[in-house]
Amino acid sequence: MGKVTGFLEIEREEPRYEPASDRIRHFGEFTIPMSEGRIVDQAARCMDCGIPFCHGDTGCPVNNQIPDWNDLVFNGDWEEAARNLHSTNNFPEFTGRICPAPCEEACTLNLEDIPVAIKTVEQAIADKAYETGHIRPYPPEKKTGKRVAIIGSGPSGMAAAQQLGRAGHDVHVYERESRPGGLMRYGIPDFKIEKHYIDRRIEQMQGEGVTFHCGVNVGVDKPVAELLAEHDAVLYCGGSEAPRAAGIPGDDLGGVHDAMPYLVQQNRRVGGEPIQSVAWPSHPIIAGGQHVVV
Ligand code: SF4
Repeated sequence: MGKVTGFLEIEREEPRYEPASDRIRHFGEFTIPMSEGRIVDQAARCMDCGIPFCHGDTGCPVNNQIPDWNDLVFNGDWEEAARNLHSTNNFPEFTGRICPAPCEEACTLNLEDIPVAIKTVEQAIADKAYETGHIRPYPPEKKTGKRVAIIGSGPSGMAAAQQLGRAGHDVHVYERESRPGGLMRYGIPDFKIEKHYIDRRIEQMQGEGVTFHCGVNVGVDKPVAELLAEHDAVLYCGGSEAPRAAGIPGDDLGGVHDAMPYLVQQNRRVGGEPIQSVAWPSHPIIAGGQHVVV
C-alpha cells in the first residue's frame, strides 16, 4: 500500500479551478494541474483495502487496478503505473478527465466523504506517460490478414479498434462526422476535455495501423452490403444521440432544447467546423447572453 498512515495524515485534495474571471475568457479546461509531489501524496492515502471496493462491482467499470497503481505512484514507478493502467484501460487520459468516477463513490474512505482522489491520480499517470514518451505506437508483431470494419469512432469504436489492431487485424473505422471521437468530440465540451487529447490518441492508433475513414455515413454514403463484402467482420459501435423527451407540460415550447443538438453545435463551433452536418441539420442554438436553466 501507499503510506500506512497516509489516509490519517494527508487531506484529500483535487485540482483547483482557475478563477471565474479567467474561465469566462476561453472554452478550454480550467483546472490547475497539481504538482507531482501533491499527486504522490494523494496516492499515499490509498489503504490497499483487503476488498478494494473501488475496483469491485460498484466501482470502476473497466476494473482498473486502482490500489496497485496508487502504490506504484507512491513509490515513484510512474512507468509501471502507466503500464498497469493501460492493461485495463485503453484511454486513461480520457477517463481521468471525463469519467464520473464511480470508483471514488465506492472507495472505503468515502464512508467519511473523503475518498482517495483516484481520478486525479489516473489523469496524472496518463499525462506523465505522454510526457515521458511511454505512450507511443505499439504495432502488432504479426498480421492476421483479416480485415475488420468498425462503424463509429466514439470511445467504444476507438477502444475496439485499438485492441483489434494490436491483435494483428487490418482495422478500418468509419465515421460519419468529419473528425473522429464521436461523443467525446461532439458531445462533451472542451472545458471537460480539450480535443487535442483525442487527436493525439488517434495519431498513436494510426501509427499502429488503424485507418480512419471520416465523412463516411455507413448506410447512406456507403451501403452496408459493400462494407460486408469488403471486410471479414463488421463491428457496430454507434452511440445513441436520440434525445428522450422529458414528457412534462411545456417541453415543446420555443426556447426548450435537448442537450445533444446544442452540445454538438457548440463543439463544432469551438472546433472551427460548420455547425450543421448531414447528421445534425438543425437550426442554430445560441446560449450566449441568455438566462439558461438546465
Ligand atoms: S477502496 Fe479506496 S482506499 Fe481502498 S484500495 Fe480502493 S482507492 Fe484505496
